[in-house]
Amino acid sequence: MEIRIAPLPEERKKPKFTDESQLSFGKLFTDRMLVAEWKAGQGWVDARIEPYAPFVFDPACAVFHYAQEIFEGLKAYKWADGTIALFRPEMNARRFNHSAERICMPEVPEELFLGGIEKLVSLERDWIPASEGTSLYIRPTMIAVEPVLGVKPADHYYFYVILSPVGAYYAAGFNPIKIMVEDHYVRSVPGGTGEAKTGGNYASSLKAGLEAKKKGYDQVLWLDGIQRRYIEEVGAMNMLFAYGKTIVTSPLTGTILNGVTRDSVLKLAASLGYAIEERLIDVNELLADIRAGKVTEAFGSGTAAVVSPVGTFAYKGETYTVGDGGVGPITRQLYDTLTGIQTGRVADSFGWVRK
Ligand code: PMP
Repeated sequence: MEIRIAPLPEERKKPKFTDESQLSFGKLFTDRMLVAEWKAGQGWVDARIEPYAPFVFDPACAVFHYAQEIFEGLKAYKWADGTIALFRPEMNARRFNHSAERICMPEVPEELFLGGIEKLVSLERDWIPASEGTSLYIRPTMIAVEPVLGVKPADHYYFYVILSPVGAYYAAGFNPIKIMVEDHYVRSVPGGTGEAKTGGNYASSLKAGLEAKKKGYDQVLWLDGIQRRYIEEVGAMNMLFAYGKTIVTSPLTGTILNGVTRDSVLKLAASLGYAIEERLIDVNELLADIRAGKVTEAFGSGTAAVVSPVGTFAYKGETYTVGDGGVGPITRQLYDTLTGIQTGRVADSFGWVRK
């Protein structure tokens, strides 16, 4: 599919950041975006890279009413030698289309998704920060834009990709987070949309997140939506637990997101000699195992933080501290190795990097 590149007039260029240590997450966007449209009877048309600008859409558009929307999140890294690398973007392409299928949206061909991202990132390469921990966050999105109030799959979609230079997640140090186990609200149920990266999942999780923040916790840990008994995932991360040399995580049964980082951590950990168990994790057993010192480390995995150590869990008014509440050696090893592969400091023996 041909992607047209529209000119970027001088006056449409934004001032670039000068101090990479001041970058935050998702507030600053680059000069250009990728856009393509899907129309019933025509398929994908008019793929173009054009100056970043607001869209003008009819207030009746389906996305505004019934949330027919999906998105992805991945990063481009600038290496010390100037190489620009994406990390396993084909997994995001596959997951995007998996989400699309669940929400009755058209599939985006891989050459448009991956080819478009490569072209866009390459044009915007000067926007990629280079200092330790920074990256260019890539946000592919698809929305239903048919202006009609009937509840049905739309006949017109926009696929677009925007880019945001982001600062170091651990600017204040690799510090353990505090998690609240949510025993009232649920995120997902069997047969629902938990496995799809669709906006509605995030809208419905805001309330629990806000209440946890007010109580002083960083994130919410979701339990299964039927019994509120089994560990699912946290806000934007999968959860993993080290029992000595065994790493345990919840299985992919359709209610949690199939994280690219989760998959990478499991493959990397297996190659480093750890045993891997994907199994249902009963919250009461887990917390008893934390108390008994059997759970030696706990960490989340996700594109934003890569690996995030968890120091404490709160559940029904009680606090459970993992180990000594600090960062464990496995968490650090996995973080260092994975970020090393992403930034070219560690050899990529898995073929994950796409230059
Ligand atoms: N779970 C949820 C709900 C998420 O939003 C994310 C972030 N995409 C993850 C897990 C982690 O997935 P990934 O490692 O692909 O970023």
